[in-house]
This record gives sequence, C-alpha cells and structure tokens, in this order.
Amino acid sequence: MSSAKEFPADAYAPNGEPWWLLKYAPNTRQRYGAERKIAAWLYFNKSIGDRFTLRELREAISTDNLANDQEHFNRRMRELRKLGWRLPSSQEDAQLKTDEYRVVRKGWQPGAGPRPKTAGQISAILRRRVLERDGYRCVICGVANGEPYPDPPPGNAVLSIGHRIPRELGGSNDADNLQVECKRCNEPVREEVGLPETLEELYAQVKGLKRAEKVTMLEWLLNGRRTRSSLDALYDRARRLNPSERKQLAARLKVATGQQPTTG
Ligand SMILES: [Zn+2]
Repeated sequence: MSSAKEFPADAYAPNGEPWWLLKYAPNTRQRYGAERKIAAWLYFNKSIGDRFTLRELREAISTDNLANDQEHFNRRMRELRKLGWRLPSSQEDAQLKTDEYRVVRKGWQPGAGPRPKTAGQISAILRRRVLERDGYRCVICGVANGEPYPDPPPGNAVLSIGHRIPRELGGSNDADNLQVECKRCNEPVREEVGLPETLEELYAQVKGLKRAEKVTMLEWLLNGRRTRSSLDALYDRARRLNPSERKQLAARLKVATGQQPTTG
C-alpha cells in the first residue's frame, strides 16, 4: 500500500529507496541514523499541525535503534530541534495525548543536502561571555536562572543560549547573534498553539501605565528586546550576595523605606 504513494524526488536516497527506509548511509556500511530517518519520514508524510506517536514512527521507519523508551525518544526530538524542527510533546502542548507529538515546524531533511552543523558547538567561554553580557537573565522576559515564573504554567526558569537569527535561517554562532533566553521564551510553541493576544485588550492595560513605564515599554518594543535598568543590575548583584547578606540588605531597605523604625 505504501509503495503506491509517490513522493517528491528528494524523498529518495541515491539507491532509490525513501530515506526513512535506508538501512545504511549511502555508499557505506554504516547504519543510517535514526534522527535522519525520523526527519525524512516526518517531512514527507506529515503536514504542519499533524500529530504523530513513537509507535507510528516505529512502524513507518525500519530501524532497530529508534528509541527504546519515551525518555530516549524525547531526547531525539530535542536533537531534531537543532535541525530546525519544532515537535512539541504533550508536556508543551496541552491538546496532545501523553504519547503524541505535533509537527509545528519542519526543519532539515536528508534530501535537502548535507546535515547542517548543529548549534551544540557554542564553547563554554562564549556561553559565559553571553551570560555575563546579558546579566544572567532571559533578554525576552527578564527572568533569572531558577526564578519562578510570575505567570502560569508554574515552573522555575532554566536559562539557555538562543539565536537571534535561527541557525536554520543562516544565523551564526557569533556572540552578536547569541542571547540569553529562558527555556520558555526559547520555545515558540506557546505563541503558536495558544494564548493569542489582542492589541485592544493589551492596550487597555498599557494605557494605564505610568509615563516612565510607557517610555520603558516603548524602548523595549523599538529594541525588540527587554533592556535592563540600573535597578535590574543592582538586583542581579543582590542575588549574588549570600542569604544572610541578602537578609541584611532587605532589613536596611525596610528601614530606608520607612517600613520599619530605625531602631528595630
Ligand atoms: Zn524568558
């Protein structure tokens, strides 16, 4: 039944078989990688918005090294992200059942040419430089590593290094193209599967901001990113104090703001 289906020319390897059925990499005796097969099968058999399961993939691509458990498979799905794919699981997309994934964006597939270098090659030094430059905070929402998010779903932020221009669109691994992003902002899923925002509803609240806040908001919009104030910078430094020093600082501020008498 599947042989009746005609795929575009780039769905086929040099030996005439679809990429996802290859046992060996072209002209070698090396096993053909499961990640490549997954990319090929999804690319030519699923449309944007379609769902799929690990089981479905197992039946569709012939391989003995796909994944032996869900966790292993989730890791593969994350690897595919580096090739431009967006394949949220039920953890990120509430409409999915526990074993389902969705094709939100397609990325590289074997028929498109050599596998691009993935983004895993940002050196520790460069990483540190970017983190320091961006004040160890997500440049999009301002959250710091380990801080709880102020809005649902609940969770603590994990920082990562993101690309302003994505790798798959030609963005480089240079510091200029890198920025600190939390996992939530780094993941465009939220934007694409829910919580649409309307201008009028938002503006009703923006209108009520103080003038200084409006000026800041405008600056962020024009810059395309949140800029940090000197207050943010001071707070970041405060976070690096040890817990007892942080307590002392809070105590002094209580006095300074009149929330506690000087002699307290
Ligand atoms: Zn963020």
